[in-house]
Amino acid sequence: MYLMNTYARADVGFKFGRGATLFDERGRDYIDFAAGIGVNALGYANKKIISAVTKQAQNLLHTSNIYHIKPQEKLAKEISKQLGYKTYAFFCNSGAEANECAIKLARKYGARNFKEKKYEIISLGSSFHGRTLATLQATGQDKFHPEIFAPYMDGFKFFDTIEEATKNISDKTVGVMIELVQGEGGIKAFEKEAVKKLAKTLKERKLLLITDEVQCGVYRTGEFVTSKIYGIKPDVITFAKALGGGVGIGACVSRKDVFEPGDHGSTFGGNFLATASGLATLKELKRLKKEGKLDEISAKFNEHLDELVKKFPKIFVKKQGIGMMLGLVLQEGVDLAKIIRLALKNRVLVLRSGTKTLRFLPPLNISKKEMKEGFGRLAKALGEYEI
Ligand SMILES: *Cc1c(COP(=O)(O)O)cnc(C)c1O
Repeated sequence: MYLMNTYARADVGFKFGRGATLFDERGRDYIDFAAGIGVNALGYANKKIISAVTKQAQNLLHTSNIYHIKPQEKLAKEISKQLGYKTYAFFCNSGAEANECAIKLARKYGARNFKEKKYEIISLGSSFHGRTLATLQATGQDKFHPEIFAPYMDGFKFFDTIEEATKNISDKTVGVMIELVQGEGGIKAFEKEAVKKLAKTLKERKLLLITDEVQCGVYRTGEFVTSKIYGIKPDVITFAKALGGGVGIGACVSRKDVFEPGDHGSTFGGNFLATASGLATLKELKRLKKEGKLDEISAKFNEHLDELVKKFPKIFVKKQGIGMMLGLVLQEGVDLAKIIRLALKNRVLVLRSGTKTLRFLPPLNISKKEMKEGFGRLAKALGEYEI
């Protein structure tokens, strides 16, 4: 192997995919309840994405951001349209970069709008915001701040609950960054009233609410953004994972246009290929939502999961999460890694979240047939676990 030792890889690799099914080198099929990690919202080989990407590749893959890029401008407009209010977008290539942009934007806002500079970002315990040095520090879990990578950046604080985060806003605080449903932290959805109160407090003090919708955005929880479900309009929203329909892209979207030329940039951010794919993805997801398909599929998937919890009470405590961002909390002592291994052996892909939650992020357009097959395989794997 000539690769760095950064991932504990499962012993399988895939050659192609159709719908919510992946095929390995030997042609064996796997039902995918993970979609990358919530990336492939329209599954594999989606016709709309193939068409947008091939058409774009025949014309242009890249020009610098020192020139206009049509599909980038269209995607920014589409995001604002689907949000339902005016926003300004900065495009980058990943979730961590989108959050870096949000942090820089908040710092500039904090330096320009108050007598005394505000710069501190408050985040939540069990959160995950990325792997760069700044976003690691924004990630509210001590295990992400080992001494080997120190020194870290100043200007970040985290608290375990929304109430505590709200209470601990200080003179230095410029904003609060939060995943409304924590993806890596156990598929934990925060309570609506607490979030609304936080949003109100921040607004009164002219501070920024930043929602990291890298995992929970782009129809994952049923609406274009999870903040809509919470009834809030964040100052800044970050996107990545599903936004490009499988092509790498990130976006930091803000209600205020804070930057000027020279403040921020990215060579590849918002390139023709990624934004053409993103535009096709958002339009197709919007169409499926309008036709009621996304809600119908989500209801069916949730039914299957509820049945699974009922059928295996020794393994599962309960289901949690919203829409198609779901977790099954395990009973004390149940071996999460072993369940994922057994699922893989039975050719169904699932994920972990935290240390005791089995995570599901299936393609949002998964067919009923694939669901039925996948849950059949998963039940078989869980049966093998119980023996
Ligand atoms: C995955 C994820 C990130 C980091 O995204 P990358 O594209 O891996 O940099 C940040 N925030 C959340 C909530 C995520 O799920």
